Amino acid sequence: MNELVVNEQRCPQNHPCPAVRVCPVGALKQDGFDAPTVDNDACIKCGKCVSFCPMRALQLL
Ligand code: SF4
Repeated sequence: MNELVVNEQRCPQNHPCPAVRVCPVGALKQDGFDAPTVDNDACIKCGKCVSFCPMRALQLL
C-alpha cells in the first residue's frame, strides 16, 4: 500500500466530502463538490478515509 487513489467514477461529486474531516493529517482537499484530491506525500496511509467513504471512492493501492 503506497498510494491513495480517488476513483472519480465512484464519487457522486454532489456534496461536501465527509472523508476530508476524518483525515488526521489534512491530506484530503476538496474544491467545491468536486471529487477530493490527495496529497500522497502527506498521506500516512492510515486507511481512515477508505473505510469512511460509503461509495468506496478512496482506495489504497
Ligand atoms: S489514508 Fe489516512 S492519511 Fe491518507 S488521506 Fe486517507 S485518512 Fe488521510
